[in-house]
Amino acid sequence: MGGSGSGNWLRWTSARCRVEDKLNLPISQFRETLKQAVNGRTVGGSLTWRRGENVTASIGFEALDPLRLRLHYTVGRGTADERRLDYFVNVTTTRPYYGGVRNWFLCPRCGRRCGVLYGPDLFACRLCHGLAYESSQTAHRMDSLIVPFAIENGMTLREAKRAFREAFKDPYDRKRSRRRRRFSDW
Ligand SMILES: [Zn+2]
Repeated sequence: MGGSGSGNWLRWTSARCRVEDKLNLPISQFRETLKQAVNGRTVGGSLTWRRGENVTASIGFEALDPLRLRLHYTVGRGTADERRLDYFVNVTTTRPYYGGVRNWFLCPRCGRRCGVLYGPDLFACRLCHGLAYESSQTAHRMDSLIVPFAIENGMTLREAKRAFREAFKDPYDRKRSRRRRRFSDW
């Protein structure tokens, strides 16, 4: 999609792209691209999701430097809601005890560190999608979000639960505070 310039042309043909129609975008897909985007060099390409032979989605990307990605793609193509999205996602790094450097996205919606972003609209972390799409969630359903959220984001379970609790803390929203009470016995 869209002349994404020279450099890497990555293709993601994995069949693992079905999470309730959400597209997942792991940071590992960008490891090489980010590494190469040094000395003012922009490295770009595209990612394609397929189901069998069919391309279900594709996005263009560029790494402007090792800590900044640009994503650009069209959603709702061919419909009245067709929109072109083009935005930056910041990247941060940690140094794990076993050595090397680990990259993480900073969620474009909430700024949290995360290892996987979910589409198909604005890519955002699992927590943001939980809040945006599961408006009638039960504690049980939220629970099922926490373990994968913790794994993806390199958090302990305790840290992940704290992040969830903070996300639901909204003193102006009575519905939210009721929900918070339910989570307080974690
Ligand atoms: Zn988020």
